[in-house]
Amino acid sequence: MAPTLMFKQLAGETDWIDAARCRGQSPKYDYAIDGESAYDAADRLMFAARRCIACPVMAECREFADSNRSLVSGVFGGMIYKPGMGRPVDPIQHRKTARINASRKGQTK
Ligand code: SF4
Repeated sequence: MAPTLMFKQLAGETDWIDAARCRGQSPKYDYAIDGESAYDAADRLMFAARRCIACPVMAECREFADSNRSLVSGVFGGMIYKPGMGRPVDPIQHRKTARINASRKGQTK
């Protein structure tokens, strides 16, 4: 679920959501998209996370995600939150791991 949609579901409307750079960008920030390979998803998530760097509400977003770790998934505040996982993952590390895992399974783009 895109961060801005998740914010509305979990936190209700807040002023800072209106300034979110990912607003209207669903599903680019979602952890998974049906039919997408793990390889492509890792690329997409890394590029989405890079956009967070210029987001004016990055700090608020990270605070929100860290307070709702068991519920969020996808890109929040420049990090990747895996569904049901506690700690966020650095997007570059996530991409490396996804590529290694895909390679081991014989998967490519
Ligand atoms: S930091 Fe990233 S995920 Fe969070 S609101 Fe901004 S663009 Fe969206």
